Amino acid sequence: MKPSNTEKKRQIGIRAKIFGCFLLFLFLALSILWFAQIILFKTLYKDIKVNELSSTAKYVLSETDTVGFYSNLADAAAKNLICAQVTDEYGDSVYSAENNTYCAIHHLPSSIRYDLIRSTDDKYSGTALYSVVLNPVTSDYDVRYVTNSYTLPESSDAIYVERFSHNGEILYLFLDSQIEPVGTVTKAMASLLIVIGALLVFLALIVAKYVSGVIAGPISEMNKAAKSLSKGKYTPVDCGTKEISELNDTLIKAAHDLNTVERMRTELIANISHDLRTPLTLIKGYAEVMMDIPDEMNAENLKTIADEADRLSSLVNDMLDISKIESGNSSPKLSLFCLTDTVRRCVGSYEKFTKHGGYRILFSADARVYVTADESMIVQALCNLINNAMTYTGSDKSVDIKQSVTGNMVRIEVTDTGEGIEPGKLKLIWDRYYKVDSEHKRAAVGTGLGLSIVRSIITMHNGNYGVRSTLGQGSTFWFELPVSELTGKDDAGTQDANTQDANTQ
Ligand code: ADP
Repeated sequence: MKPSNTEKKRQIGIRAKIFGCFLLFLFLALSILWFAQIILFKTLYKDIKVNELSSTAKYVLSETDTVGFYSNLADAAAKNLICAQVTDEYGDSVYSAENNTYCAIHHLPSSIRYDLIRSTDDKYSGTALYSVVLNPVTSDYDVRYVTNSYTLPESSDAIYVERFSHNGEILYLFLDSQIEPVGTVTKAMASLLIVIGALLVFLALIVAKYVSGVIAGPISEMNKAAKSLSKGKYTPVDCGTKEISELNDTLIKAAHDLNTVERMRTELIANISHDLRTPLTLIKGYAEVMMDIPDEMNAENLKTIADEADRLSSLVNDMLDISKIESGNSSPKLSLFCLTDTVRRCVGSYEKFTKHGGYRILFSADARVYVTADESMIVQALCNLINNAMTYTGSDKSVDIKQSVTGNMVRIEVTDTGEGIEPGKLKLIWDRYYKVDSEHKRAAVGTGLGLSIVRSIITMHNGNYGVRSTLGQGSTFWFELPVSELTGKDDAGTQDANTQDANTQ
């Protein structure tokens, strides 16, 4: 079904999709970058600063009673650009290491330091972090306890206070790190991100154009080439990718198959019109003769008309059967039945040919076998094989039908003594509408559908089928079905279609 115009409009091309995917990816990547740089940067920066204070304190306070305690403190503070001060319990300085000119602890009045010491001792068990902001207008210090680094205000001093004992004396360590305003840095990074983003969008567009060209280009070319596929033509598109060359191969095969089907269709129309015309001409001719010459109204001529009508109906039935089977509308109606009896009855139905047509049709079975299958379909397959054998058998007009059981499979073989089939054509004869030789004696009658019907029926029953043939000696067509039940030796022995009634159990 053709897509409607509105459906067509809603479809997006591969190029647009690739562009869209690239831009979406870029948008996500830039958003992540933006979030990491602008939002996380501030938090991380403060975290690092606070960690520096606590790790420096931990390091210097690990050995407080050593002689080198103060020089250790000075080194560690200088290394991290931290200002350090040691005070007694009243906030008066005992030792000081100044590494930042504007640090708060060196400018805090000792009363504030004393307040900090008291609150650290009373409320925070001897260790606490504070933020100190100098109000430039009032010159007051705004001191606050800090629960986590995130709440540290910008342009403040983070002050870490810890009580410790040095040679039996209680002292307090003050470490000060300045929290620089990172707003300018993040603003600079934001502008940089805009420039980088614009550059990336530009680059992404170029890459997307290239990628979409590489992917969509051959597909559009193939689409153009595939438009002539309905005529059985396809010119492969040259490109270096595996998937496209596989698609090329598939389309080449499709074009080849279409050609074959088209050839078969033309042959079939020719065959069918020929096959239909022959009996119709005969029926019309005989009927006209009988109308014009009353003496010709005899049983023999009427039989010819009836025979030709039979030929017509079997041709039409064959065509209906194959189309029913191949469209999947005909599923087997399974039942348990005695295959041996069914084959025997089927062979018996050829009695008129053995009695009046000079044929010798023999059936032999090694056991009575039951199968679970669609009986009428199996009879149809067998009749097709017997009909072919009778058509192509040699001048002795003999056809042998044999049933044999091997393991859990029963095989039915139909052997004739005809010209046989060339080895190269043995596979093709199972194809629809295939005829070995259009000059062949049955070419005027056969449709090339009989064996294809056999193949479909046996495949439907999970059976096997095949043919052996020797040029000049004849052919044996066979099929196998899974055995459902075995009831010992078949008592009827070899049966001639002529003596069927006597032998059938
Ligand atoms: P058709 O209706 O033409 O017989 P089939 O599908 O039954 O169609 O057979 C396909 C072709 O296989 C026949 O045209 C014939 O050439 C060949 N064929 C079938 N059965 C035999 C046979 N027993 N001996 C020789 N050739 C056969």
